Amino acid sequence: MNRIFHHADTTGSEIETTLLRNVQKLDNVEILENAIMCDAKKTKTGFSILVLTDDGTYTTYNCRYAVFATGGIGRVYEYTTNSAIATGDGITTAYELGAEIKNLSYIQFHPTGFNNKHTRETFLISESVRGEGAYLKNCNGERFMQNYDDRLELAPRDVVSHAIMAEAKKTGSDKFYLDITHKDPEFVKNRFPMINEKLLEAGYDMTKDMIPIFPCHHYLMGGINVDTYARTNIDRLYACGECSHTGVHGNNRLASNSLLEALVFSRRAAGDINEKIKSDNGELETYDFKIDNDAPHIPHGIRTEVRDIMQRAYFVIPDKEALPPDLKEVTKLKNFLCDGNFKIDRDYVEAKSLTTVAYIVLKDAIEKLDAKEKTEENK
Ligand SMILES: Cc1cc2nc3c(=O)[nH]c(=O)nc-3n(C[C@H](O)[C@H](O)[C@H](O)COP(=O)(O)OP(=O)(O)OC[C@H]3O[C@@H](n4cnc5c(N)ncnc54)[C@H](O)[C@@H]3O)c2cc1C
Repeated sequence: MNRIFHHADTTGSEIETTLLRNVQKLDNVEILENAIMCDAKKTKTGFSILVLTDDGTYTTYNCRYAVFATGGIGRVYEYTTNSAIATGDGITTAYELGAEIKNLSYIQFHPTGFNNKHTRETFLISESVRGEGAYLKNCNGERFMQNYDDRLELAPRDVVSHAIMAEAKKTGSDKFYLDITHKDPEFVKNRFPMINEKLLEAGYDMTKDMIPIFPCHHYLMGGINVDTYARTNIDRLYACGECSHTGVHGNNRLASNSLLEALVFSRRAAGDINEKIKSDNGELETYDFKIDNDAPHIPHGIRTEVRDIMQRAYFVIPDKEALPPDLKEVTKLKNFLCDGNFKIDRDYVEAKSLTTVAYIVLKDAIEKLDAKEKTEENK
């Protein structure tokens, strides 16, 4: 059977627009745009969730069940394909509620992000460009994959990303290229219309120029641990999509397996909640969140500091030497934000989330390296 279900080449967009169109028709659903969950507390009857809307209003929503579907953590890195929302808010809130967070260091790095070094959000030069015969080249314009894997440019994502990092160490340069200039220009333009257009906008003609690339963070396999019904270890808390750890990936991800985490697990969560809610009754308890409107804004630069730490300690390959001191640094930042009294706004929530997920990633990476060393010692 085909493993992947798709709608032309716009599957995600089709899912999202169809879902929104249908949800908008439901009388019992209120959609809050540009609203951010700042905090959540467990109550006897479920959860109280503190939400801040763009006009500066705080509202507490009480609910019997909560489903977190808050996406990945890409913004914890300097180079990522993820959009600005990927700050790990749901994972952080679940962690604070006592949920189990599993394998957060299982991160997929895509080998060929366009590397213009000007924009934080990197676009991908997809695998199909290598599939059609593009060569990977180092700073000297030389192919190098033959030194790392027999499959050359067609090796899997993690292998190619690792090879690029090893080659960068060898050459002392992070300049890498994809070169498809040896193919017929008309074929290239017709086969990759979107990539060609984006590159032309950035000043590169892929039929004549080598394309600058570098690995970038792409997907999070770990997350809030759930069972096959998207249930966390916290009663009434569910998680689905990229923020969850469902167990459908290992330390890597097959293309489009994210659909499974988003669609199958959310449907199962909904089914489970629909059954359980039949026996729920009574008034909802509420938690009284304290808001200090005079509290200071967080200092500038914390998010940049976290990104620097992550790029250094664990970008593609965990750096054994850098991990322990960098974990210490990130723990300091996390405690500073969590224990301090700061204005609760988008900047605070995102900075606290980034420091928290960075802390969990680095801790998990150290534990996994230690476990690997022990296994090797016992062999
Ligand atoms: C460039 C790119 C290409 C990809 N290609 C593929 C592909 O080909 N096949 C595939 O299967 N997967 C692909 N993926 C992965 C896939 O797109 C994602 O895994 C998937 O979209 C995640 O969906 P999600 O619903 O879990 O999270 P998202 O789509 O990220 O949605 C999370 C939502 O939560 C909201 N949110 C976050 N924090 C808060 C908060 N504190 N309060 C309120 N709301 C919040 C966000 O605003 C956002 O609306 C790709 C990803 C990227 C970036």
